Amino acid sequence: MTRSQDPEADLLRAMIAACASKSLTRSKSCVDTEYLVGLAEGTLTPQERACVTEHVADCLYCSTMVAAAVRELSDTPNGDAPPNAQFDPSRERRRDGA
Ligand SMILES: [Zn+2]
Repeated sequence: MTRSQDPEADLLRAMIAACASKSLTRSKSCVDTEYLVGLAEGTLTPQERACVTEHVADCLYCSTMVAAAVRELSDTPNGDAPPNAQFDPSRERRRDGA
């Protein structure tokens, strides 16, 4: 059985395309793509999140990947809005207490 719609694959394609369009390449210290997706989706544990965020804040490739993922996730017509659609590494801490 194959699914015609694979949101995850579309997401990865968009992320990679965003980096390709800027001629950005992955470095050895880059975090796994699944963590970048997790960061965009807000599904990481606090520890993972802290670790990934630290790298993303310093890495143009990874920040581009996350930004593209966030954009894709927030642009899903028949999906819920992602928890952190406005991801911005420099403003990681949000002040809402919810
Ligand atoms: Zn990186």
